[in-house]
Amino acid sequence: MARASRFDTLFDPVRIGPKTAKNRFFQVPHASGMTNANPRVRAAFRGMKAEGGWAVVSTGACSVDPSSDDSPFPCATLWDQADIRAHALMTEAVHAHGALAAVELWHGGAAAMNRTTREAPLSPSGVPWMATHVGFMSSARPKVMDAEDIRDLIRWHAEAARRAEEAGFDILYVYAGMGYLPYQFLLSDYNHRSDAYGGSVRNRVRLTEELIDAVRAATGGRCAVALRISLQELRARPSDAAESEAHEVIAALKDAPDLFDVKMDYSATDCAPSRFSPEGSHEAVVDFVKSLTDKPVVGVGRFTSPDTMVSMVRRGVLDLIGGARPSIADPFLPAKIEEGREDEIRECIGCNLCISSWHDGVWVRCTQNPTAGEEWRRGWHPEIVSKDAAGSALVIGGGPAGLEAALTLARRGFKVALAEARGEFGGRLLWESHLPGLGQWFRVVDYRLGRLRQMANVSLFAGSALGPDEVREFGADHVVIATGARWTAALCGANEIPAGTLEAPRVYTPEDIAAGTAIEGPVAVFDFDNYYMGSAIAEALAARGLATTYITTAGGAQAWGIMTNEQPLVHRSFARAGIGYRTLEIVTGFDGETLTLAQIFSGEKRQTVARSLVIVGQRAGGSTLYEALRTGGAGGATLALTGDALAPGAIAHAVYQAHRTARAVALAEGPARPRRDAAFATLDIEGSRA
Ligand code: ADP
Ligand code: SF4
Repeated sequence: MARASRFDTLFDPVRIGPKTAKNRFFQVPHASGMTNANPRVRAAFRGMKAEGGWAVVSTGACSVDPSSDDSPFPCATLWDQADIRAHALMTEAVHAHGALAAVELWHGGAAAMNRTTREAPLSPSGVPWMATHVGFMSSARPKVMDAEDIRDLIRWHAEAARRAEEAGFDILYVYAGMGYLPYQFLLSDYNHRSDAYGGSVRNRVRLTEELIDAVRAATGGRCAVALRISLQELRARPSDAAESEAHEVIAALKDAPDLFDVKMDYSATDCAPSRFSPEGSHEAVVDFVKSLTDKPVVGVGRFTSPDTMVSMVRRGVLDLIGGARPSIADPFLPAKIEEGREDEIRECIGCNLCISSWHDGVWVRCTQNPTAGEEWRRGWHPEIVSKDAAGSALVIGGGPAGLEAALTLARRGFKVALAEARGEFGGRLLWESHLPGLGQWFRVVDYRLGRLRQMANVSLFAGSALGPDEVREFGADHVVIATGARWTAALCGANEIPAGTLEAPRVYTPEDIAAGTAIEGPVAVFDFDNYYMGSAIAEALAARGLATTYITTAGGAQAWGIMTNEQPLVHRSFARAGIGYRTLEIVTGFDGETLTLAQIFSGEKRQTVARSLVIVGQRAGGSTLYEALRTGGAGGATLALTGDALAPGAIAHAVYQAHRTARAVALAEGPARPRRDAAFATLDIEGSRA
């Protein structure tokens, strides 16, 4: 199919200094949790995006010197010659598909804790980075850079740039954003210097400018030089000379780089969850840049709609459509638009499981794309599954796991039947996507159902609750059970020890809310699940006009939400909605009128009035159907349990397990063992600094 002509402009080539991007799709630098320690995994992950049509594919942050060290969190490096080979694998994988490879040269300054190298963190004026973010928290405080440190910093960038060119990179970034060192020079709050690098905006910009010049000179102008810059704070600052300090900075740098990559300042606004931010949420901050420079501008905004992308170009906001999360969820997004298959885009849902992987220090995981990070290790391709199967498969349960299992089995060539008890497919998302802000999460269902409906070898049976007899009667060769999990009303004791249940009126679980049970206020939500469900239910109840209090065992609302950038926004949302919250407490009693709470460390008790209690704690998996078929026979079919029924978790876990289950069905010897990546042997090369 040919692409729609209204999308033609997305496929215009764009000149970036000495290089040309073949279209406007630009995978901007983003964390992947992959480092030089797993070069093959990284190369395959990035190479897949080039295969999917992205014109530029970038690394994540890549440290230029041991004085910027994020390890033991994932930390890619270009510290010396020994690092080149690992990066060359990635650039080869990217070039193999006609894309340009970009490297994000990075010095974290006061935001790099140097836990392993034990170098003193560097900063313009000794002001620490006020970290609210997992990997940046430390008790180390930075030293003030002297003139020699500044010269070193510029030299490290130049040396790293030379190595980057040797590794095959086409575009070299200077990174003045997100709290990292050149950014700290830009902001007067961090930069109190009285030398040529502090004071006026012109002086604060000087370091960034010199870094750009040094990187360009180091590669003789052969590589393009990009500037990645955060503009949220600068734009909020008035300036006598321009509309804002951001305008002044961009005007001063307008001819310096070959490309501007413009973004926000904080992870929670830069990589904002869809629950609190729509597509294109950066525009109000970055929209002015193109009016001040003739250089191309790239920016992000969780763009998955080609019409929005065209609008960004037509309205003069961006020249290149940046993608980080959309490129993880669907590496083939550009190819699908080019081939007129935009309805097949696996749209990012904005859940930020991907960013949580980086905070966990592991390779990127994605709710929508279970193959992300598994391209090399397991040989999984996001679009192509070998047609290696015949026979029939019955999948029971039409939630995220059942849909994923059915799709993967169908792609493998099985004749697939998908049975769902309810009248509609979607499982937990049928309801969860109606919680405040979670509408886009239904894309997990839309993508899979959309594909399944187009496949001739798939039959969909909604309204079909199957028991063991029906399953045996159906006579499929293979049966996959994905019947989900249930929330329980079990309580949590102090010291993380489970407690029993409550015998009281008006005690509910999320399933009761899903079923539309009328809730009387005031209502208390007791959350020790600590992911999105408790806070989203509190928001939903408050939106119904009920006086709502949120109680958690943790130190803050939705404690795990710090991993997904949601936590600060949850606190903001609670404040706006008037949701009261209590931390570090457990529920020890409730009689339908009075709720008794205990401080988890002191045991001190407190009572409060509540008519209803919603417990968001544990989920139970398992399947009576599976057990019945296992013990009573499955009519000769192979049997597998998957998704939340196997082990309750986030949707990402259910989708991943289902994908894995479906890949393994009917393999006599089971799936191949995953390959193990390893760093290239470190050569006996001296560090770049004595
Ligand atoms: P997961 O996240 O693992 O996909 P969900 O709870 O979202 O789990 O989905 C499980 C689905 O399985 C639900 O839609 C539920 O209605 C369906 N289901 C449960 N038992 C049966 C059954 N015996 N026959 C058909 N569908 C079932
Ligand atoms: Fe998008 Fe969620 Fe996948 Fe991240 S994990 S790319 S936010 S769908």
